[in-house]
Amino acid sequence: MFMAAALVIGAGVALYWQQVSHILERDVKTHVAAAGEEAASDFNRLIQTDQKVLESIAITVEDTYPWANRTRLTEFLKRQTQHNYFKLLGVITEDGKVFLSAPAQLDPAFVADVKASTLEEGHYLSVRQADPVDGEDVLVQSVALMKDDKPVGALFALQMPERYRPLLALSAMGNRGYSMVVQRSGVPVLGYYKTSFSNVFGLLSHATFDDKDMTLDKLRTAVQEGKHLLVGYKGSSEHRFLHFIPLKINDWYLISALPTTYVAQQAQHLTWLSILLVGSVFFIFFGLIFYILHMRAYSNRQLFTTAFVDQLTGVDNFNRMCEQFPEKLAGLNGQAALVVFDINKFKVINDLHGYERGNQVLQRVARVLRENITPQECFCRSTADNFILLLKYTDRKSFLARIKALATQLRRDCTVEDSCLMIDVAFGVYEVKENIPFYIMLDRAHLALENAKKMSFDKCQFYDEADRKRIVAEKQIENTMEAALDHGDFTVYLQPKCDFTTGQMRGAEALVRWNRLSEGIVRPDDFIPIFEKNGFILRLDMFILESVARLLAAWKVKGLTAVPVAVNFSRLHLNDSRYIPQMLRLVDKYNVPHEMIEVELTESVIFNNLTRAQDVINSLHRQGFSVAMDDFGSGYSSLNVLKSLQFDSIKLDKEFLAGFEGNPHADKVIEGAVAMIKSLGIQVVAEGVETREQADFLRQTGCDLAQGYFFSRPLPADQFEALLKTSAPPQA
Ligand code: C2E
Ligand code: CA
Ligand code: CA
Repeated sequence: MFMAAALVIGAGVALYWQQVSHILERDVKTHVAAAGEEAASDFNRLIQTDQKVLESIAITVEDTYPWANRTRLTEFLKRQTQHNYFKLLGVITEDGKVFLSAPAQLDPAFVADVKASTLEEGHYLSVRQADPVDGEDVLVQSVALMKDDKPVGALFALQMPERYRPLLALSAMGNRGYSMVVQRSGVPVLGYYKTSFSNVFGLLSHATFDDKDMTLDKLRTAVQEGKHLLVGYKGSSEHRFLHFIPLKINDWYLISALPTTYVAQQAQHLTWLSILLVGSVFFIFFGLIFYILHMRAYSNRQLFTTAFVDQLTGVDNFNRMCEQFPEKLAGLNGQAALVVFDINKFKVINDLHGYERGNQVLQRVARVLRENITPQECFCRSTADNFILLLKYTDRKSFLARIKALATQLRRDCTVEDSCLMIDVAFGVYEVKENIPFYIMLDRAHLALENAKKMSFDKCQFYDEADRKRIVAEKQIENTMEAALDHGDFTVYLQPKCDFTTGQMRGAEALVRWNRLSEGIVRPDDFIPIFEKNGFILRLDMFILESVARLLAAWKVKGLTAVPVAVNFSRLHLNDSRYIPQMLRLVDKYNVPHEMIEVELTESVIFNNLTRAQDVINSLHRQGFSVAMDDFGSGYSSLNVLKSLQFDSIKLDKEFLAGFEGNPHADKVIEGAVAMIKSLGIQVVAEGVETREQADFLRQTGCDLAQGYFFSRPLPADQFEALLKTSAPPQA
């Protein structure tokens, strides 16, 4: 840009120079012409004036003819000389006597020449003449002296050179030009300088004229003819202009001469001025540009800082990371991993030690990261205590070693002083394998981080494609659950609870099934945990309860002997005040006796909130519902709980039974547990009974009821209904 600007300005200056030279050349011609004309007319006027002066002096001189008083005449001449600035005044009488204004020796030939010429013409103006006194070039001017119309002598004056010389200097041209008076033949008469040449045409013998048609002969002829001429020529040294102007005196010409170097000098002078001007403009222009660029760079830096730098830690922020990510990733040649980490329970640090300490920890973390990052890599603080790193990744082992070392340093260097609170970080890693957008990589690293946080130590997890698939499946479930409920895609399966000894059905458990178009019948383990997270389970459980109530009512209408049906209720209901009223509304809507409904609550629910569980169980009992503790033995079962809560039955978890298989003490433990539960007056139901051996053993232990594939799989309502018809004896 600068180069272009400089070129344009340079070309401008060159063009300007050329134009100025051209204009000045034209100007100089006009000047030479004008100055020459002026000099010529001044010269004419001067000569005529002097002529008049001489004529008036002559009148006085004539009066005193025949000049008997010689002294008086010379005194008069002396006075007139001083008065009129002549160099010398003299009277030459007819007989050759000479009276002078000042004593001088005149050459008799000069005297004779002046007298003859004057008497012949009446007046006379000399051609180039050497001063008879000092030898200088002078003009001699004279008029005839008359007495009674007869010439009696001549009055002559030697002109002071100072009188005409200034006229021959072309002062307007800065004294670079001058004029001279020549005869038509070219012989000089007067010059501003003392002329050293004999003929002006001789000087031009080697000249090259600007006008190609002009020759020396043509010039000479034109001058002979008394023409006005302006010619430019190049002589031996320099280029000049010559102006030939015919004078009104004798056959004289005034020639003005001006060297063109004068023009060049003028142009140069103007150009220097212009260059100075342009230079100043340049200077101001570039100064301004420099200033603007400087200010722009400054504000860019400011903008960069606000837009791309994390104010608290001074490291890159998320925007900056997004911006430089593609370039950095390319620089790592596909050997890269995107890592996210945050400080576990960072809020606690803020709460316990104040924000200032919290900020200090973040600043230290940033410092440690900066120390551990190579120039190829990058990192940023994205939000609060969340950092993102793009690291080089070659193999898992060395990468994990690096992360471990980093975690150790973070723990060591960033822990809050004088406190026992150690900071603890978890890392989620996405090993870059696919060409996917940054935010997707980030999502994956975050997913890995969530998994890492679930770990108790060495909290670093790599993203696993299965995790993503799981999440996608979860998302799909969430997207379709509402519609599925509306379309009746959720149905109830029923699994009988049977008497160990007789094998007769004593009850049933309602288990939900989702009939998904894409996958067929889906088991609850795939969706219940999701519904528990998003709360949809509250609606689903009520839907199952209503389905069960409707079935019970239908069986009654059909005259079938119904068995009590257990419905699973999520722990979420416990904290919902509408739980029992809703239950009642649905059950009563179908006029189902409350004792036909059993509520199954999982063991973990009860542990989490014992008093609340107690309240709910009591309320259910008051309404006539029975309550079972589900999955006993799957978690941290406490027999103490059984004491404080009034369960009607306990369901031994299938895993509880399976866990004892092959263990010599197993039988004893189960026996003891069953005996203890039964001693509290609680019914014992064994879940997941799959084999005859299991059934036989459990019967021995005193278990009341069995639920499991050995007796029956969960069945669709119509099959269950068929089973009801055949197996149950009519109730009295
Ligand atoms: P759960 O309450 O412990 O239900 C018993 C589960 O064991 C059922 O699985 C049943 O099909 C299975 N099962 C029965 N006998 C055997 C056996 O002999 N061997 C084996 N291996 N399994 C057996 P399902 O139907 O997949 O239900 C899984 C869990 O989903 C249930 O465990 C329950 O916690 C939950 N669930 C099912 N339906 C509902 C519902 O309507 N509401 C709520 N909140 N949870 C439900
Ligand atoms: Ca259950
Ligand atoms: Ca269970």
